[in-house]
Amino acid sequence: MTDIAANFAAVEARIAAACARAGRSASEVRLLPVTKTRDADAVRAAMALGYRRFGENKVQEARAKAEELASEGAEWAIIGHLQTNKAKYLPAFAAEFQALDSVGLASELDRRFEAAGRRLPVLVQVNTSAEASKSGLAPDEVEGFVAQLAPFQALEVAGLMTIAANTTDEAAVRACFTQLSELQRRLRDAHGGGFDELSMGMTGDFEWAIEHGSTCVRIGTALFGPRVYPTA
Ligand SMILES: *Cc1c(COP(=O)(O)O)cnc(C)c1O
Repeated sequence: MTDIAANFAAVEARIAAACARAGRSASEVRLLPVTKTRDADAVRAAMALGYRRFGENKVQEARAKAEELASEGAEWAIIGHLQTNKAKYLPAFAAEFQALDSVGLASELDRRFEAAGRRLPVLVQVNTSAEASKSGLAPDEVEGFVAQLAPFQALEVAGLMTIAANTTDEAAVRACFTQLSELQRRLRDAHGGGFDELSMGMTGDFEWAIEHGSTCVRIGTALFGPRVYPTA
């Protein structure tokens, strides 16, 4: 517990320092703690520090944690690839979805949230690193994709999300963030504004992401320690 509190304080200080360096207000950047593989007590420790919304990349795990913490007011952001046949689970617990990457999925989410009488803020995931293992649209597909989302009234297209290249090459990582913010600028020009959210930056690269305009850093390891995956 003490460790988690100290880790949050350290990350918050690094976010504030990165904002100061970039001439930005710290209030422009939200810290989304990523709780995948962590138990409910880790979430509670973060809630005790004032955090309400948490990032999870797998629906099954997110659902289970949402149920366990239902009476405690936690909110959930799904930040990983979602199969269309799992969209039906989201209205019960998801506050936002950061990995939209297909019209079929958008249509199904729209139908499910419409039926539940809810709206869902969504971010379009962009594959800025061109790594084949990563989900997301190619940057040059995004403008056409966004145009196809217009009919989906239950979805609020809030902005863009990316996972930068998995490399220690700073220039290559920064190039991913530059691409996402340039894409945001193009969308804003074409649509007269909007697309305010830029979800980019994780434990290894969040300070650079903030310098390139991130409004949401998704951080797991720096807050909760190394992830331990069960050996199956
Ligand atoms: C796991 C995960 C993160 C957090 O990664 P860390 O390196 O532990 O900070 C961020 N974004 C997504 C999409 C993730 O799946």
